[in-house]
Amino acid sequence: MISLNEAIDLVLTAVRPLPAEQVPLLETLGRTVAADVVSPEDVPSFDNSAMDGFAARGAELAGVARSDGLAIVAEIPAGSVAAAPLGPGEAARIMTGAPLPVGADTVVQVEHTEERDGRVFVRTAPAVGRNVRYAAEDVHRGDVVLPRGAPLGPAELGLLTSIGVDELTVARRPRVAILATGSELVPPGRPLGPGQIRNSNSVTNWGQALAAGAEPVLLGIAADDRDETRRLISRALDEDVVITSGGVSVGDYDFVKEIEEELGVERRFWGVATKPGKPFAFGVRDGRLVFGAPGNPVAAMVSFELYARPALLAMQGRRDIWRPWLTAAAAEPVKATRDRVEVRRCLLTRDERGGWRFTTTGPQGSGILRSMVLADGLVFVPSEHAGGQVGDPYLVMVLEGSRPERPPYPA
Ligand code: AMP
Ligand code: MG
Repeated sequence: MISLNEAIDLVLTAVRPLPAEQVPLLETLGRTVAADVVSPEDVPSFDNSAMDGFAARGAELAGVARSDGLAIVAEIPAGSVAAAPLGPGEAARIMTGAPLPVGADTVVQVEHTEERDGRVFVRTAPAVGRNVRYAAEDVHRGDVVLPRGAPLGPAELGLLTSIGVDELTVARRPRVAILATGSELVPPGRPLGPGQIRNSNSVTNWGQALAAGAEPVLLGIAADDRDETRRLISRALDEDVVITSGGVSVGDYDFVKEIEEELGVERRFWGVATKPGKPFAFGVRDGRLVFGAPGNPVAAMVSFELYARPALLAMQGRRDIWRPWLTAAAAEPVKATRDRVEVRRCLLTRDERGGWRFTTTGPQGSGILRSMVLADGLVFVPSEHAGGQVGDPYLVMVLEGSRPERPPYPA
């Protein structure tokens, strides 16, 4: 048995980055930038008004509050350009986002003005240069706006659009073959015969793969039969990543490892000091990663979370491969397992002082998938641990779909 840290290191060491591909911008959400994106343009590309008001020569404004005002010589709505430069003693009515006329350097917001007989009178003069958004104040031509390895979310897509990008080089999505093993398994939508259960692992792994930016390839169920298992694992090895569930323990029908090795998979480890997930197996063939998770639904899911998710992100060149994590205080006494790190499913709440605390989500058997459904996070209980008291601190990995409380917004 190796430690959780050793296992993660061995997996990440085996990761090879995938090649890049060109993709339309709107198909890049959730994917990873494969080459630094350099802006071909300034954003904004012209000086423009930050307010609805009047564009003027800033140096003239201090005097005009007391004088006879400025002549309104033009109107510049957003999307149009002033026909002529602004002369001395002149102002242009201007809307937010409209380009400043040549000669103007300052905008007086409309609330600080009065208008009479085609002239504008300034009640409160702004400093020279105020209320202007300057060309390139967001992005300079030549700036690296997104580095290689950056994840693409809504803000990134918006920024790319603002610099005129509509196609992008992103890492190819890893193709993940998902194979369930077990003669007791029935595909979804079929009635159960005696002793049968539904194949839920393939569906959880499918969802986890999609959420990690990968492309799942569902290969169905291999009965506990050597020929069928060999045929399906051999097919699975066409893909970048293989994830099997079940058949890696010490039972009479657990021959997934053996068959993989016959098919040329080089075993990197089998057995990790965690609960659940102890009989987890990992190997490599021709740069392909081959994960063998135990069959219990929580074990299959937690194993994916601990090993496959960071690996899939790293294959896409992502640097932020880790889930958010925090330290939370036990809200109940914590029992430890000797020799193994326990990975329990927990709910997170705030204590009176704004710190985090956790409770476990009821029964923690590795077949109890509801413990995952209810979970905000995974709490890691060290093995060399006499047992924790209420208030003791533990590491919690925060999962997708956690249910935080309403934030304490400032008044
Ligand atoms: P195994 O690791 O093959 O010994 O399976 C351990 C337990 O997980 C057994 O109770 C299996 O019936 C169950 N199991 C295995 N594969 C799946 C699956 N794909 N979906 C749901 N349960 C499974
Ligand atoms: Mg089995």
